[in-house]
Amino acid sequence: MRLLVVEDSPDLSRQLRTALTEAGFAVDLALDGEEALHLGLTEPYDAVVLDLGLPRLDGLSVLRRWREANRTMPVILLTARDSWHEKVQGLNAGADDYLAKPFVMAELIARLNALIRRASGVAKPELVFGPVRIDTASRTVTRDGVPVRLTAMEYAMLAYLALNAGRPVSKTELTEHLYAQDFDRDSNTLEVIAGRIRRKLGEGLIETVRGQGYRMVPPG
Ligand code: CA
Repeated sequence: MRLLVVEDSPDLSRQLRTALTEAGFAVDLALDGEEALHLGLTEPYDAVVLDLGLPRLDGLSVLRRWREANRTMPVILLTARDSWHEKVQGLNAGADDYLAKPFVMAELIARLNALIRRASGVAKPELVFGPVRIDTASRTVTRDGVPVRLTAMEYAMLAYLALNAGRPVSKTELTEHLYAQDFDRDSNTLEVIAGRIRRKLGEGLIETVRGQGYRMVPPG
């Protein structure tokens, strides 16, 4: 899952990138409102963390312009502690959630996971595909009840396909959602990763759809 983090404080921005990368997200940073506006209009993010007080263009204006352009990705606002006014304005401008500064990183990660799940139309944190269970809250996977160790990239690809189960997902789409903008992307790597997931979790879990990409079939 790929995130855009919009925060002008270099310290907080760095902390966010480190923590969210460790939590398995691909993270792009924007340090001002204009850069944020551009990235949010052109790149396919799974969710956005948006500070409101930004140089060049304020966060609320950025959010309004995204929504006017029908950009529907979930947005969580970082607001000032006691400003109910900011929260109300933000939600009315199209934000999906907010978190008051200072916040605990674990809460931000939990809220992001919940927003991404909801945006995919999934209500429960656990996704079940026959013998395979994927817990998107703890990022753990079991097969027949036995924990299976996946690398961060293996988990990221599995979770993206699972949240989009039922339709083929192209390699281009996977690349856009699994790697940050500055990452050296190579779509051949995806075949290697898919192969490893199949070996660990069963050959039938991920189908190759000729010319279209990969698909996971929802059970039932
Ligand atoms: Ca700020």
